[in-house]
Parts: sequence; C-alpha cells; structure tokens
Amino acid sequence: MKIAIDGPAGAGKSTISKEIAKRLGFIYIDTGAMYRSVGLAALNAAIDTTNEDELSRIIEDIDISIKNIDNTQRFYLGVDDVTEKIREPEVSVAASNVAVVPAVRLKLVELQRRLAESSDVVMDGRDIGTYVLPNAELKIFLTASVDERAERRFEELKAKNVDTTFDAVKNDIIYRDKNDSEREFAPLKPAHDSVIIDSTDLSIEEVIDKILGLVKERRNVII
Ligand code: C5P
Repeated sequence: MKIAIDGPAGAGKSTISKEIAKRLGFIYIDTGAMYRSVGLAALNAAIDTTNEDELSRIIEDIDISIKNIDNTQRFYLGVDDVTEKIREPEVSVAASNVAVVPAVRLKLVELQRRLAESSDVVMDGRDIGTYVLPNAELKIFLTASVDERAERRFEELKAKNVDTTFDAVKNDIIYRDKNDSEREFAPLKPAHDSVIIDSTDLSIEEVIDKILGLVKERRNVII
C-alpha cells in the first residue's frame, strides 16, 4: 500500500507521516529532506539557488543517500551527515528554490519512486499524490492556517535552539507557499482524489486517528 501525504510547510506532515508509518510497519520517505539536501549542496557550492542553468549542471554530481541508523533516518551528502544541517531556515528557502528546477525534480522523483517500488510506504511532500505516486491507494492533503503553521515551526526551531523570530518563520512559510504552488512543474496542490484535512484545530493524535480510519476503509476495499 502507498500512502501519499502532501501539503504546505508546517502542516505537520512529517510528524504525522512518521507516526503512521511506525504504527502500520510501513517505510517512511521524507521527500522534503531530499530537496533540502540539494538546496544545501547548492549553498555549499556557492551557487545561486534560483539559477536554473547552474543547478541543472550540478544536479547529476550531487550524491544523496539515506541510511537507517538506530531506527532513525540519516541524510548524507557524499560522506557528510547533513541530517541536522538541512533543517536550518536558510536551507528551507534554498530547498524551495531548487525545487522549481525540472532537472532537480526529475532526479529526485526517480529516487523516490525507486524507494517506494518494493515496500509499503508513507511518503510526504508536495507532489506525491499528483505526480510521484499517482496510483497511491490513499492520498491526504494536510493543511492548516498560515499562523498556526508558523507557530508550530517556530516552536520546533526554538526547541532546537535555532536563533529566529516568529515573523521570520512566518515570512519563510509565506515565501515557500507561493514558490511551491506557483511553479510550473509539479506544483503544490491537492490531487483530485485526495482527502483534505485541515489540522488548524486538531491535535496530532486526532489527525493520526482520521488517517488510520481511512487506511482501514481503503484496505478493506483493496482486499
Ligand atoms: O517538506 P519540507 O518543508 O522539508 O520541504 C522543503 C522544500 O522542498 C519545500 O518548501 C518544497 O519547495 C520542496 N519540496 C517539493 N516537493 C516535495 C517535497 C518538498 O518541492 N515532494
């Protein structure tokens, strides 16, 4: 079974996807972390993250790998463990910029499809239901108000001692929402057959319950 969870930044996709995968015994695939890794590689190479030609040129040389260590997924750029580094705010913006470039998306989508090929997966991102896994048995579009998403992301960053402000986080989210929804290639939008969940006034547990209820229904249909 493939479960696609899409939605804008800060809607709670990764927390919820991870937990759903754990409870169902599925593999969790964090596609945002892949775009973040490419964004970081571009920053490290001092490339303008909005320069499509430069990015198309370097993308084939970027070596991203994922390793499972002590039950957590670690992301590598070459031999460097970048798991924590890719969560920094400047990398979020770089990720959203490089994600506009078709050559970047094509390379990462190929990797994502390969990872999903032979397992039950929960995959989260922006275009999973519309583009990466169009035949997923369950597609969720998880959203929440901008203020609520900014508040959640701000608390998350504060807990990691990242030096930022609520307004800076909110502006990043507004920038990424616009960039992600307005790009031409595989933009952020709900798949026509997705279930839209607005999590503004829901707890994590309530969202998980809703999704697990849908998994149960769909599995009965599939069996
Ligand atoms: O989900 P996360 O916030 O980690 O994603 C970082 C950025 O990567 C997003 O703002 C988006 O631009 C890009 N992304 C994407 N398609 C995906 C996953 C992430 O364009 N499937």
